[in-house]
Amino acid sequence: MARYIFITGGVVSSLGKGLASAALGALLQARGFSVRLRKLDPYLNVDPGTMSPFEHGEVFVTDDGAETDLDLGHYERFTGVAARKTDSISSGRIYSNVLEKERRGDYLGKTIQVIPHVTNEIKDFIHIGEDEVDFMLCEIGGTVGDIEGLPFFEAIRQFAHEQPRGQCVFMHLTLLPFLAASGELKTKPTQHSVKELQSIGIAPDILVCRSEHPIPEKEREKLALFCNVRPESVIAAYDLKSIYDAPLAYHKEGLDQAVLDAFGITPAPRPKLDVWEDVSDRIHNPEGEVKVAIVGKYTQLEDAYKSIAEALTHGGMANRVRVKAEWIDSEIFDSEDPAAHLQGYHAILVPGGFGERGTEGKIKAAQFARERNVPYLGICLGMQMAVIEAARNLAGLPDAGSEEFDHESGKKRFTPVVYHLKEWVQGNHTVARKLDDDKGGTMRLGAYSAVLSEGSKVAEIYEGVDIEERHRHRYEVDNKYRDKLEKCGLVFSGMSPDGRLPEIVEWKNHPWFIGVQFHPELKSKPFAPAPLFRDFIRAAKEMSRLV
Ligand code: GLN
Repeated sequence: MARYIFITGGVVSSLGKGLASAALGALLQARGFSVRLRKLDPYLNVDPGTMSPFEHGEVFVTDDGAETDLDLGHYERFTGVAARKTDSISSGRIYSNVLEKERRGDYLGKTIQVIPHVTNEIKDFIHIGEDEVDFMLCEIGGTVGDIEGLPFFEAIRQFAHEQPRGQCVFMHLTLLPFLAASGELKTKPTQHSVKELQSIGIAPDILVCRSEHPIPEKEREKLALFCNVRPESVIAAYDLKSIYDAPLAYHKEGLDQAVLDAFGITPAPRPKLDVWEDVSDRIHNPEGEVKVAIVGKYTQLEDAYKSIAEALTHGGMANRVRVKAEWIDSEIFDSEDPAAHLQGYHAILVPGGFGERGTEGKIKAAQFARERNVPYLGICLGMQMAVIEAARNLAGLPDAGSEEFDHESGKKRFTPVVYHLKEWVQGNHTVARKLDDDKGGTMRLGAYSAVLSEGSKVAEIYEGVDIEERHRHRYEVDNKYRDKLEKCGLVFSGMSPDGRLPEIVEWKNHPWFIGVQFHPELKSKPFAPAPLFRDFIRAAKEMSRLV
């Protein structure tokens, strides 16, 4: 059975709990243990799939088709362990399960209460798959004291109480604010936060303290004394230049050692940190810089495209260049010449997106990239826009568009080169969907295979012809336009195994122009960059030498 590490936060939100959890996961792996990371979120949405990316950041999609919190992306990027549906849960989902059971009569007419019914549901979730790994790391979203979080805190308290002694460790992340006027780090908020935890029956074993300044020994001792943890279990978390420094930084501060000590694992296996040393070295010692324009809609909040930003960084690391990604709002091109904005970039990326707003600008960006031989990577909607651009400007279909936009406006304006898919094959069964099904349940989601054409650029990049990548979309490029488009030079170089769904297009006579229906960014890791991002940045690097 797994050992459990519960990670909670206090004082303020956005302290980097997800990053601390992910880094700890990586460090435990470096010591030879297997891990799985989980996120328990107190919000009432049933899943993050329908939450606005402006508010909540990107929706991270797993192989098994779950739409999850972006923290699961961090977990994967640091541990390489593919997250699953069962690695993310919200209060909404828990309550919905409980209410479903109540409707079914599973509780035999009993009064349904937070304790035990909701807490039991949470505990059952935590137990899933516990025989598979050495350590299960469960991060509780929000901060201690939040009303929504209480059932989760109660559930992990009970959980630890029910396990054999020494099977669970609590790690609490807080902030030590710095008062410039007196030049002091203040420990009081942390003391209060720990008190709050203790009042609900949880005594943290490890305190991770975010701080902008070195924590003096005296303050560390004070924290240990007042918060009832060992001084060596007070771990400093300083601001880092790169998130990928986190494993080494936490190791230096003794986090993994403190955790293993708390479990009584002695002697602790020695860590093998060469992977992270290499990652840090590549991040901090680039030999050049490339500038990539990301033409999209959700430009206000970088978290809305977290995985893309990270995958670009990984591509840069593979090529030993720093990637300077700049976000350009595609709506600007409605009134302004794209060339004025896109000149000077070494590559253009059009990411995924939903809805018509801003799409004409994305089409113009694709046209600019095609005509000017600028490397272009179109992801999902970015691929669809590249195909529409080709259809309109080269294949004699001036009204080409996506059914998505007609559906949105309720008018029939476009030739549906991109159409709504109602039925498709997953593995060995057929999935059918209606457009007006429940929101969130209507997409082609999760990992699907694609077969690449021999001799294509993508086959060369992937070093093979069978790939599997993650999807999240409702619409598809219509294969019936394939001949027309291929005659213009747009090669359909990747197809679904049944040959029906175009997965990849590339321009034959272009240095690097690839559109993919899937999201290659979701599987990219700093130590194993996604092949498409690695090669996209290589092409950008080449471009930077030309201009
Ligand atoms: N809106 C498009 C679709 O649903 C593209 C989705 C995406 O880019 N993830 O097919």
